[in-house]
Amino acid sequence: MEQGLGRRGDSRSAEAFDRAKKVIPGGVNSPVRAFKSVGLTPIYVERGEGSRIYDIDGNSYIDYVGSWGPLIMGHAHPEVIEALRKTAEKGTSFGAPTELETLMAELVVERVPSVDIVRMVNSGTEATMSALRLARGITGRSRILKFEGSYHGHADSLLIKAGSGVATLGLPDSPGVPEGVASHTITVPYNDIESVKLAFDKYGEEIACIIVEPVAGNMGVVPPLPGFLQGLRDITTQYGSLLIFDEVMTGFRVAYACAQGLYGITPDLTCFGKVIGGGLPVGAYGGRRELMEQIAPSGPIYQAGTLSGNPLAMAAGYTTLKLLTPEVYQQLERQAAKLQAGMADNAKKHGVAATINRVGSMVCPFFTEQHVINFDIARTSNLKQFQAYFASMLALGINIAPSQFEGMFVSAVHSDSDIETTIQAHDAALESLQQ
Ligand code: PLP
Repeated sequence: MEQGLGRRGDSRSAEAFDRAKKVIPGGVNSPVRAFKSVGLTPIYVERGEGSRIYDIDGNSYIDYVGSWGPLIMGHAHPEVIEALRKTAEKGTSFGAPTELETLMAELVVERVPSVDIVRMVNSGTEATMSALRLARGITGRSRILKFEGSYHGHADSLLIKAGSGVATLGLPDSPGVPEGVASHTITVPYNDIESVKLAFDKYGEEIACIIVEPVAGNMGVVPPLPGFLQGLRDITTQYGSLLIFDEVMTGFRVAYACAQGLYGITPDLTCFGKVIGGGLPVGAYGGRRELMEQIAPSGPIYQAGTLSGNPLAMAAGYTTLKLLTPEVYQQLERQAAKLQAGMADNAKKHGVAATINRVGSMVCPFFTEQHVINFDIARTSNLKQFQAYFASMLALGINIAPSQFEGMFVSAVHSDSDIETTIQAHDAALESLQQ
């Protein structure tokens, strides 16, 4: 094991968490950070650099959380920091247009062929919520269809059979979501085109849109089966519904032209977040011109934001996207494939039931032998084993998401030695499961 890795203590993090719990609900500003599902207390981060984060107890970790996806170029990338510094010196927000916003939009439009025109917002949740309103406004229909175990942010209509923290905490549909709102959301199993057809047989004329993660990333990592996304494209076209790709996680993560480029499917609307903000709070939604021009002020469907298109956020996002050349995606593919293969070998060696799913730099070691194609199968994973595995990995200096239903995000700055160290730690963690 590389020198310096491995955890030496956690007393300061534990104290910091106790203090936070007095003034922040559950001690955290987003539920998954609380480590509740793995029965531990969170690490408090002091700083990040490249592939590493450092906690306030002086421990260092190879990080595969990457702020839950955005940090594809690693922590504190010098060019991103420099862009932020230069931008901040000129002021942080104006509530008036800046040229940076146009530069950013031009770059997204250039890279993603289905996007003619794009609106910036402040989070993935805002992007999906706004895209739904647009789909409903354009079609004059209320129902939407989503997939079980998919997470599209915490807007009322979308917090139904959601994945990510909701699945992990075992919450059903959240209190506070009115039944009337929930009743417009149809949920069917991911990768099950027959269920989609049945739903459209019954409600097709009332369905405004299908919203789908083209690679499901909130039930672990679950790729679309061949023909699934095309099936969604065909059925939405047939019924005059819109197809929304939620690429908040996959956008600029799985490929240069996002998941839609990887699978060759053209959605009507696309939602972005995470990578597009380069570590600052950004979301965006875009698509065909005639659809997007229905948004205010060019059209009647309202959506706005005091800080939308914020200069700092645009600077971080634009610089990150510029760094993401086709060669970077090749490097991501290589490193993530090495990680996947190493983990699969370890599982075989230790006789642990495992399936390692991967798309691009999203990797998920499921503790189940079944072919994971939907949420029900993801849930056959042995969560007790995951919990023990998570604790071992953390103790060995590897930071992964504290949930079986999240992937690992490989970044462009994970070195060969980082990947090898991680595979060794995985080996040791599986070994300790046997004891
Ligand atoms: N959509 C997907 C696919 C996501 O993974 C997430 C967040 O994890 C969201 C939407 C919500 O984004 P945010 O947390 O920025 O609101």
